[in-house]
Amino acid sequence: MYFDSHAHYDDAAFNADREEVLQKVCNAGVEGIVDCASDIKSLERITELAERHKYIYAAFGFHPEDIGGLDEEAVSLLYDYAESCARTVAIGEIGLDYHYPDNPSKEMQQDWFIEQIEVAKDLELPIIVHSRDAAKDTYDILKEYDGARNGGVIHSYSGAPELAREYVKLGFYLGIGGMVTFQNAKKVAATVAEIPLEHLLLETDCPYLAPAPNRGKRNDSSNLQYIAARIAEIKSITPEEVARVTTENARKLFRLEDV
Ligand SMILES: [Zn+2]
Repeated sequence: MYFDSHAHYDDAAFNADREEVLQKVCNAGVEGIVDCASDIKSLERITELAERHKYIYAAFGFHPEDIGGLDEEAVSLLYDYAESCARTVAIGEIGLDYHYPDNPSKEMQQDWFIEQIEVAKDLELPIIVHSRDAAKDTYDILKEYDGARNGGVIHSYSGAPELAREYVKLGFYLGIGGMVTFQNAKKVAATVAEIPLEHLLLETDCPYLAPAPNRGKRNDSSNLQYIAARIAEIKSITPEEVARVTTENARKLFRLEDV
């Protein structure tokens, strides 16, 4: 059984056939999904999804690209949703994204990242971290503000094994997604080869980042099998072993026995 530690089924890309896709995903052996918030509107949509489906868990937070225009009221909303949803398992996705120059300023992203780390600490929840083109600042903030106090995952990890090791030392899991199946993704393959399976999670980040052989298409959790197969190939173990251990890791990180 697979566990998708990072998905966006609340995304409009699923508006036409969401329930059909989720049925297909269940039939493909996916036992759990964490649906991650991004903007303020997604908070309500995720609550509804998690209430409707017992295998969907909720993560509430503001993505660094979606913090423009947020004020302190957004922080109290974040508390409200995270505390009132019975199926909240994490704060996320939160972090830093320096990819596009017209994103919210670095300073503003850092403030929101730190503020949401504090919310997670306050609520004793793990965090789901997004980091793109911001490796050093992400690591420094997580270290300084004890981001791993209640555990966490660096989602869609695509960096080098050296940094991966440092994150594992802090207590983070690494989320491995479709990128690992891409021919040119040498760094993430090297990371998967080196980091023990006990520190890895599977994820899709759907509707984005579909793995080969479905690269470029709309992604969904039934594609976890291709990610597991590639990890198995790199580590010379069976895909079943990858599925079993990464699902166990997710259950542990998100404390699913408590939900
Ligand atoms: Zn995401």
